[in-house]
Amino acid sequence: MEILKILEFPDKRLRRVSEPVTVFDQELKTLSDNMLITMYEERGVGLAAPQVNNPVRLIVMDISEERDQPLVFVNPVVDSYKGKTESNEGCLSVPDIKTDIKRHETITLHAQDLKGAQITIDADGLLSICIQHEIDHLDGKLFIDYISDIKLQRIRKKAAKQNKAARIERQKNTRLI
Ligand code: ZN
Repeated sequence: MEILKILEFPDKRLRRVSEPVTVFDQELKTLSDNMLITMYEERGVGLAAPQVNNPVRLIVMDISEERDQPLVFVNPVVDSYKGKTESNEGCLSVPDIKTDIKRHETITLHAQDLKGAQITIDADGLLSICIQHEIDHLDGKLFIDYISDIKLQRIRKKAAKQNKAARIERQKNTRLI
């Protein structure tokens, strides 16, 4: 197993649209395992393959407090949305930035598992938010795209002012997806 390097904004490779997975082999399983250990190592809640410079439609996440319930979705598609919700988001590819983002409250997800079998789940709460955030990565979108440039600049200035120790302390207590 290998901890992978996470690409960081403004790296242009984060803007690529990822390709569908067509081969469900050991290589895919290895990528998924490495993404999960990278996500746990970096204290993230979710990670998308393009964030580790592998532009295929694969996302992993774990929203459990105990960090022992890994989820893997291949070729994820959301086809039903209900309600609106807003929550504070961060991202392993956009260090130090946290901001409130509006998302759909409940969604229906269709995806495949690592063997290619179909999965359908209804999700709400953090799981729904995380799935929407990770699928955005597959389409080359970042959560900061939802806020204005002016607001982003303000947040970045504020983050730059905080000293590093405070930032590390804060990072420990926030979820990054
Ligand atoms: Zn992210």
